[in-house]
Parts: sequence; structure tokens; C-alpha cells
Amino acid sequence: MMRFLLPLFFLLLLEIQGLKAVQEASPPPSSAATAQKEMIPGGEMTVREYDPRSTLVVPGREYPRAKYPFIDFHSHHRPNRPPEEIDQVVRDMDRINMAVAVNLSGGSGERIKAHTANYVKRYPTRFVLFASPDFSGIDEPDWGKKAAAQLEQDVRNGAQGLKLFKNFGLEVKYKDGSRLKVDDPILDPIWEACARLRIPAILHTGEPSEFFQPIDKHNERWQELIEHPDRARPPDKYPRFEELMAERDRLFLKHKNTTFVAAHMGWHANDLARLGKMLDQTPNLYVELAAVIYDFGRQPLTGHDWMVRYQDRVLMGKDIFAASEYPTYFRVLESRDEYFPYYRKYHAFWRMYGLSLPDEVLKKIYYKNALKLLPKIDASRFPR
Ligand SMILES: [Zn+2]
Repeated sequence: MMRFLLPLFFLLLLEIQGLKAVQEASPPPSSAATAQKEMIPGGEMTVREYDPRSTLVVPGREYPRAKYPFIDFHSHHRPNRPPEEIDQVVRDMDRINMAVAVNLSGGSGERIKAHTANYVKRYPTRFVLFASPDFSGIDEPDWGKKAAAQLEQDVRNGAQGLKLFKNFGLEVKYKDGSRLKVDDPILDPIWEACARLRIPAILHTGEPSEFFQPIDKHNERWQELIEHPDRARPPDKYPRFEELMAERDRLFLKHKNTTFVAAHMGWHANDLARLGKMLDQTPNLYVELAAVIYDFGRQPLTGHDWMVRYQDRVLMGKDIFAASEYPTYFRVLESRDEYFPYYRKYHAFWRMYGLSLPDEVLKKIYYKNALKLLPKIDASRFPR
């Protein structure tokens, strides 16, 4: 019996080994195979896949809470929201030391009233509201005057500032198809109303300059433009970046009695010499940090010196209210940590460094500068 079974056993063994060899020659597309591919020097993967862990060992820690209470000058909260959700927002604000949210999503008319009823009545000291003009009637000859009158009404209903969204300059058009330019004189009554009412006007003009550039391997925002193709601003559909910036700068210089805030550091945080020159030439201008902390995080030395020099002109801002994302802002502004991660790779595939700003500069950015622009906020709630 054994004499017969033994050869059969070896035959079976050979069979199994052969099968294994076939499997190795053409591996199925499994995660093991992907891992194998990544181990090959020169193996290909996309920028989106590459996610190396850092082996750098240096001191550093998390910054879950701002060192001082801060006023977020660039926040968005929809006016109609159930009270439980607003309670949750306030709990999140408390956790990160956010004293006041400046809600730029006020709109005009009934929306302003809804925000005041829902947010301000419930939390009188925690929410500030900005109004925005309604562009639907710009073809009417007295639109500017009407919009200015509406703004005065909105201020009576609780608005403490004016917000212009990015559609202004990029997308708002007259009926004949021509673009409403940022410095179009039909808006002059609105800027004059801001000066008269002593309220700031915050403008989001344009987009990051790379959104206006070809989407190729040299584009610093390639990943974002691949994931969000609608963010691209090709020249056949939109004005050029520099054209928008020129319109904006002319507007700021023309209305010297109006206090302007350039949102997102005017999209020049990647060129602080340019931004500094702009601030030097425009004493009625402030800037705020929303969505561009990654540009400071990659230039800790230049960024530190610039912040110290322009400490009276910078406001804290974040844009999207996500409590988990603020600690990166705190860490860039406050720490001297090195090479720590940013929270959204398609904004910045590079790592961050802390600016290690002095306390007095931090206080100005976090709340002192905002208190100058928003005098209705009770300053006694903040450290001196
Ligand atoms: Zn925003």
C-alpha cells in the first residue's frame, strides 16, 4: 500500500508548488501587491497616495486651546439653526478659547433678523453678524443708493460690518454680460455708508493665484484642482488674478475713510513683501488669516518678523468652523515647534513650523485689533 501512496503524495506536493508559482507570476490586484509595488525603488504612486510618516524626533506638543481668548473675524454659520446646534457651537468655541464668532453669512433683510433672533438673543456676547449686499438689481440706476439704505437698515437690525463674497469680482455680472468690477463706482454709496456707520468691510477678492494658472505638474494646488475642478479659474471664463488685485487695490485707495479687511491675507501670504507694501500704502486696510495659515507655517523666520512688524493690522480668522482644525493655527502662531502636520493636504503638502510670536503680538492678532474694528464687543472680557 505505502509503495503506491508515497509517489502519489510527492505528485500532489509538486502540484501545489506549481500552483503557487503561477499565483506569484500574476498576482491579483490586492493590497499586498500594492505594498509590494511601493517597496520597489522608482515605483509609481500618485501625489495623493504618498503619505510618509515623519521620522524626525524634536520637542513639540499639541495646542488644543488658544493661549488667549480670540475673536474669529471670519466665520460662517447659517442664520436658521436649531438651538441645540447653536449650543454645540458655543461648547466647541469654549473648548478652543474662541470668545466671539464673527458670522459673515448674514446676508440682508430677513436673514439678519433670523440670525439676531437665533444666535444673538441666546448668546448676546458670542456672535457678531456681518451683512452682504444683494446684487440682483445692479442694472437699476439707483441700485447703489438702495443697497446703502438696506445696509443701514441691516445695521439697525444688528449687523456690525459688511462682507463681500468672492462672487463679487469673479461672477457678478450686468445683464449685458459685462462683469461687475471690484472698483465699479456703482458701489461707492455702500463704501461711503460703511465709513459713515463706522463699520468695517471685509472683502474676499479672487482666489489663490494658482487657481488661475494651468493645472499641470508645476501647480502648487494641483491636488485641490483635481479634487475640486470647479475651483479652477481659467482665463476664458474669468478675469486674471492680477486684474482682480489691481481693481481691489484701487478701491482701497479710493475710499480712504472706509476701513477695509482683505480676507485670506488678500491671497498674498505667499508674498509677504508684497502684502507689507500694500499695508504701508493703505492705512485703512487690515488683513485676516482665514484658510492661509499654511503660508505662514512654511516661512517661520520671515513670517515671525512680518507679524511683528504688522502686528497692528492682522486679525485672527479661520473660515470653516471646525473646532478640530484651529489647533494648527494656534501652534503656528504660538509655538516654536518644527515640522508638524497641516490638516488638509490639498491646501499644503508641506509641514508647518511655529512662528513663536511674542505675547503682545498674539494678543493683538487674537483680539485687540478686532476690538478696534468692532467696538460693540465688550473689551473688559479680554486680558489687557
Ligand atoms: Zn469665508
